[in-house]
Amino acid sequence: MTTTLITGANKGIGFEAARRLVAAGHTVYIGARDAERGRLAAERLGARFVLLDVTDDATVDAAVKTIAADGGVDVLVNNAGIETRTEDNGVPTAETVTADQMRNTFETNVFGVVRVIHAFLPLLRRSAAPVVVNVSSGLASLTSLSDPDHPAHFYPGIAYPTSKTAVNMLTVQFAKAFPDMRINSVEPGFTRTDLNGNTGTQTVEQGAEIVVRMAQLAPDGPTGGFFDVNGPLPW
Ligand code: NAP
Repeated sequence: MTTTLITGANKGIGFEAARRLVAAGHTVYIGARDAERGRLAAERLGARFVLLDVTDDATVDAAVKTIAADGGVDVLVNNAGIETRTEDNGVPTAETVTADQMRNTFETNVFGVVRVIHAFLPLLRRSAAPVVVNVSSGLASLTSLSDPDHPAHFYPGIAYPTSKTAVNMLTVQFAKAFPDMRINSVEPGFTRTDLNGNTGTQTVEQGAEIVVRMAQLAPDGPTGGFFDVNGPLPW
């Protein structure tokens, strides 16, 4: 029996990934920072709820204790993420970005991933087939954003893409440090969720596909990579 924790799974891509993994037979914990939203989501899916704010040590430590008492975890999906917006609902650009906007974005997207991986390491190490999926973004790719012919080249944001580039480096470094675990970054694709004001072009079913696939990796699967549904992506 595989036990999976998905952070930020009360809605969006995380919720859909949880739905799919419950259907695949995983015991799934919906990690959510809001108890009511989290409980409701877990009830709808036949999943378990655990209070978990990735920016808060106390909730993360309590979540480790709860899940340890229930028997541990095999798969950790670091899905919780934010895109910091400006007052006019734009993204902070090279002209406008502030250190506070960067810090705010990194607090969830980067430091949150470090906090959660670090806290769950002892439980993951006890698993026979530990897997970590870091939900990154195509906007993390230095190769794509510096290529004038790539569709993502136009994207002017600073805070969100740099945070996801940092997530990719976490994937590389953690994967080298823990070769017995499968640790990969994934790019869901531009997906209709609250994160982008529901402007995405894909459904959550499409967005969750690579998350679900990499959450089910066998021990001989790849590690330290960056993938979308079509295969490996350039860093
Ligand atoms: P979403 O619908 O806004 O969902 C984000 C989830 O993260 C929500 O459940 C939210 O909880 C949770 N969250 C935010 N801050 C949190 C915190 N401090 N602690 C715990 N949970 C927190 O967005 P989404 O599109 O599904 O995003 C999921 C992941 O996919 C993110 O990492 C995002 O960067 C990535 N991604 C999305 C797209 C896209 O086009 N949508 C593309 C590439 C990558 P609340 O309900 O409490 O706010």
